[in-house]
Amino acid sequence: MKNQRIIPIRKNFRRFLSLPMALLPVLMLASCTANQEEDTKPNIVVIFCDDLGYGDLGTFGHPTIRTPNLDQMAEEGQKWTNFYVGASVCTPSRAALITGRLPIRNGMNGNRRVLFPNSIGGLQDSEITIAEAVKEVGYATACVGKWHLGHLPEYLPTNHGFDSYFGIPYSNDMDRVKGDLKDPEYLSFNVPLMRNEEIIERPAVQTTITKRYTEESIQFIKENKDQAFFLYLAHNLPHIPLFTSEEFVDTSIRGLYGDVIEEIDWSVGQIIKTLRSEGLAENTMVVFTSDNGPWLVFEQDGGSAGLLRDGKGTTWEGGMREPTIFWWPEKIQPGVITDMGATMDIFPTVCKLTGAEFPSDRIMDGVDLTQTLLDEKPSPRNTIFYYRGREIYAVRSGMYKAHFITENVYTKDHIRTEHETPLLFHLGHDPSEKYNIAEDHPDVIAEIMIVMEQHKAKLVIPDSQLDRKK
Ligand code: MG
Repeated sequence: MKNQRIIPIRKNFRRFLSLPMALLPVLMLASCTANQEEDTKPNIVVIFCDDLGYGDLGTFGHPTIRTPNLDQMAEEGQKWTNFYVGASVCTPSRAALITGRLPIRNGMNGNRRVLFPNSIGGLQDSEITIAEAVKEVGYATACVGKWHLGHLPEYLPTNHGFDSYFGIPYSNDMDRVKGDLKDPEYLSFNVPLMRNEEIIERPAVQTTITKRYTEESIQFIKENKDQAFFLYLAHNLPHIPLFTSEEFVDTSIRGLYGDVIEEIDWSVGQIIKTLRSEGLAENTMVVFTSDNGPWLVFEQDGGSAGLLRDGKGTTWEGGMREPTIFWWPEKIQPGVITDMGATMDIFPTVCKLTGAEFPSDRIMDGVDLTQTLLDEKPSPRNTIFYYRGREIYAVRSGMYKAHFITENVYTKDHIRTEHETPLLFHLGHDPSEKYNIAEDHPDVIAEIMIVMEQHKAKLVIPDSQLDRKK
């Protein structure tokens, strides 16, 4: 990044002119160090939550959940209000982030919507992950937290470009042996905690899981402060069942769900504090977002999508638009970005920032966001495809979103509707998708259908990895 290097060197030169000659030797030494630092590649930290709603952070408008650390991150960085995931449930959404490709291309879509403990599939070796890309240019890499792209050894993070792994390899409600999701004890969920490819604790003690993921992340940052690193911290929470460590029990007015979010906010604060105290803040980009919207069927134990419609599992906005913050002091231009972005864009953006090679032998679905992040230029993203399984349910093009199929989920009256005339919403005027304007805009629908057909024409769909089970 040319600009990033030039600006600090100019600053050094100005300081050079204003100092007495006696300080020259010291200054020259310091200047050498500074120049070496200019050449260091930026560290990348991606913090990924599970089932966090669009409306669950203070900075995104929640009236009672307190998230001072995330709010400050948003003040100092960029808050993206139209940022999407690749699917409305865990596994395909994670596959989209880590490969920069729609799940329909990487095999992580299917009739079973996510991987389960009895699944035998996982992310294929032929896929290239962000970790593999940055490893090629010398990065240390760590995955901490929920993986959910295959728990058998060949699919674990350590076989997808990560030097180390510490976490629960799938959702925290799986391997349920007893009990109620709404009144949980961690002993009721026999989920494993793994270090690299070994199970080190079972059932994982979930009350301390956010805290331990945080400690692990901080240790990794400190151990690798003298070289470029990529940290992927994927919290298991606030996916239900909800757990917090002792210090956060009954601390939020919002109840247990609020306690969980406030502990995650604390965790973010600890990571930022470490980056600052280790002198790494100005050379580290931190991205905070989540894999899909809130699990609304759990009522007060689930999160809130704010003014967006519906939640997890659906192709309404509440299922696939996430509260997203990019932070990098003195590099990212602070502000609120209303242009579109997606988790798939993190891969090409990281490639641009780190000098890693962007895969050219396959169709990638991400676009490079660096011009928006660093220079406040418009985002190059104009389209979102909302897949459920292997079908496109909706397409957003610019401000318009057309729904071809809608389906409510996790309810008794599960209804799938194919719309002869697609539903059409203007997401600028109507972010809650309340007012169908299809009748007035047949031309817009026709244009969106062309976009969809062009996209479909390039699809080569691999076998589903999700549908493989014991
Ligand atoms: Mg999820």
